[in-house]
Formats: sequence, structure tokens, C-alpha cells
Amino acid sequence: MFARGARRRLVDEVTRLGLRRLMVITSERQLDLARALTDGLQDRLAVSFTRVLPHVPDSVAREARTLAEEHSVDGLLSVGGGSITGTAKIVALTSGLPIVSVPTTYAGSELTPVWGMTTGGRKETGRSPMVLPKVVIYDPQLVEGLPRKVATSSALNAMAHCIEALWMSTATPVTTLMALEGVRVLRQGLDELVTDLTPAAFENLVLGAYLAGASFAVAGSGLHHKICHALGGAFDLPHAETHAVVLPHALDFNIVAMRADSATRLTSALGGTDAVESLRDLYRRVGAPVSLAGLGLTAEQLRVAIQVVIEKLPIENPRPVDADAVRAILTAAYRPKP
Ligand code: NAD
Repeated sequence: MFARGARRRLVDEVTRLGLRRLMVITSERQLDLARALTDGLQDRLAVSFTRVLPHVPDSVAREARTLAEEHSVDGLLSVGGGSITGTAKIVALTSGLPIVSVPTTYAGSELTPVWGMTTGGRKETGRSPMVLPKVVIYDPQLVEGLPRKVATSSALNAMAHCIEALWMSTATPVTTLMALEGVRVLRQGLDELVTDLTPAAFENLVLGAYLAGASFAVAGSGLHHKICHALGGAFDLPHAETHAVVLPHALDFNIVAMRADSATRLTSALGGTDAVESLRDLYRRVGAPVSLAGLGLTAEQLRVAIQVVIEKLPIENPRPVDADAVRAILTAAYRPKP
């Protein structure tokens, strides 16, 4: 579902799916929102789980799964960002429980069959149709309260899904169409966040998140996502900010190897004459994060991160990636030249 006010259809959707014992997965921060959303569902709420952590540590997964079993729940309602959706997915992976997802960031996880869990500092991901939500409710009013910095990085996380979807060998004409339109509306929404904050800005950003999740779900993840997952899993770096920092460097590396028509259309979706420069200009306009050092990564951690990514080689990418390329991309993202 996609509309301002779509959240009011949650009760009907839960009824349509025949769910009677819901587990609400959210965070303390989003608890008031979850309460308001479930106002008409009181008799169908079995339990809430709010001890969500970024990147779904295995201890959180165990706790959430046990709670779902103990309360004999028959459905999962996730209200929040990607960490919350990800926790619901990890419960669904082993239980087969259906998920109803109400996203409040632009992460896009709710549209993909990809799950992720972190064990001992390594983030493992996989694909399973079991984790794909049955219903997703996109309501642009739900993202209006996102702090500006969170919103900016989250929208650039969505932008990264779109741009990577363009260069994957699994891209299709449809994913390319969605990804390009995603880049266009995300760029527009990001600019509107700083210049013209009207409801249209949030509609553009949520639409961009939808198009990003939908194109990424099919085209899959490559070099850019592999780098970000290695950094997130090993050093608990903030997910969306890490994507935002790495994206211009991944694009700079890959632009020469992209299909010429995709590169041209990407440049125009970014609103300039040079894709990498247009993206960097956008970062300057919206005050996006630009360095891994700025996110708290130490020089020693950078060295380890480079090694972790090198261990993942070979990585599917339009331009061959070797150890030197990984080192160059991560070093540039660590402390970019002014
Ligand atoms: P997040 O869920 O941790 O949320 C980021 C921050 O936004 C948090 O501090 C949260 O409290 C806050 N927040 C969320 N909604 C809010 C609201 N409405 N108002 C105020 N604050 C709000 O981070 P994220 O970037 O949304 O998601 C990152 C996670 O999602 C990562 O673990 C990543 O791996 C996963 N992810 C998975 C996929 C997939 O396909 N499996 C895709 C994208 C992201």
C-alpha cells in the first residue's frame, strides 16, 4: 500500500490475513507510533519485542524467536527502520510467520527476500521467500518525524540500492527503469528536504525507497553492498551513513565499466553532466556524511576492513575487482581528498 494515511488500513490488512496473535516488533523510540497504529488491534496483540539492535546480532535473533514461540504468535508486525524489519525477517526465516511491515525509514528491506544476521562480528546474509513481508504499508506521513541527518543518510542508502541495481549483471529492463526513477525522485526529495519542505518531499523519498527496494530485490547486491556489510558487521558502523560514504567511491570506480546507456541515464537522473560530480554536488547541498573516519572508523579498523573485503573476492562487478581496487576504494572513502 502506498498513500498518505495508508497506515489507517493496517487493521483491515491484519483482518484480511486472519491474524489473531501478533508480535509487534519495534524499538522503544517507535513504541508510541506502534501503539497508535495498533489502536484498533488490541485484542489481537500477543506480545511486543523492542530490544532491537542494528545488524541483528544472533543474541537478539534468539531472544525474538523464543518470545514468538512462547506466545504462540501467528504473525509479525514490524514498525520501524531496517533494523526492525530485519529482526522480523530473522524470526520469519525459522518460523515461517507472515510479516506485515510498516517502514519508517528509506532502507527498503521490506521489499526484499534478503535477511541478515551478525555473529561474532561477521554479517551473514541470505535470500529466502519466507522473509518477504506479505503486506507493506508505505505512508509518507510516518517519515516526517525522521531527524534530518537520519533521513539524509537513509535516502542515500536507498540511492545506493538504485545505483548498484544499475550495474549488476542480473539487472533487467524493469529494474533499470525503477532504479533510474528511484535516483531521480530521491535526488529531488533530498533537495526538497533542505530547500522546500512540503509533503511532496516525503512522498518523493518514500517512492524512491520503494523503487530502490524493488530494484535491489531483483538485481541483487554487488561490490558496494559487500563493502558496506563488511564494515557494518565488523565494526558496528551505522548502516545508512556507511552506504552514504562509500557510494560515491563505488560509483567512481564502476562508472567507466557501466553500460553506456545506463551511465548516461544515471547522469541525467542525477541532474548533471557527470554522474560522480553530480552525486558529490548533491552531498554538498544536503550535508551528507563523506568519510569513514568521520563515522568513527580507526586506521587499524580500516586495515582489517580492507582484509575482510579482500577475503570476499571474487565479487561480481562490472569492472574486475582485485585487492588493490578494494584498498583504493576503502582508503579513498576513509578520508577523501578535499
Ligand atoms: P535503523 O532501523 O537502525 O534506523 C536508523 C535510525 O532511525 C534509528 O536510530 C531509529 O531509531 C531511527 N528511526 C527510525 N524510524 C524513525 C522515525 N520514524 N522517527 C524517528 N527516528 C526513527 O536503520 P536503517 O538504516 O533503517 O536500516 C538499517 C538496517 O537494515 C541494517 O541492518 C541493514 O543491513 C538492513 N537492511 C536490510 C536490507 C535487506 O534487503 N535485507 C536492505 C536495507 C537495509
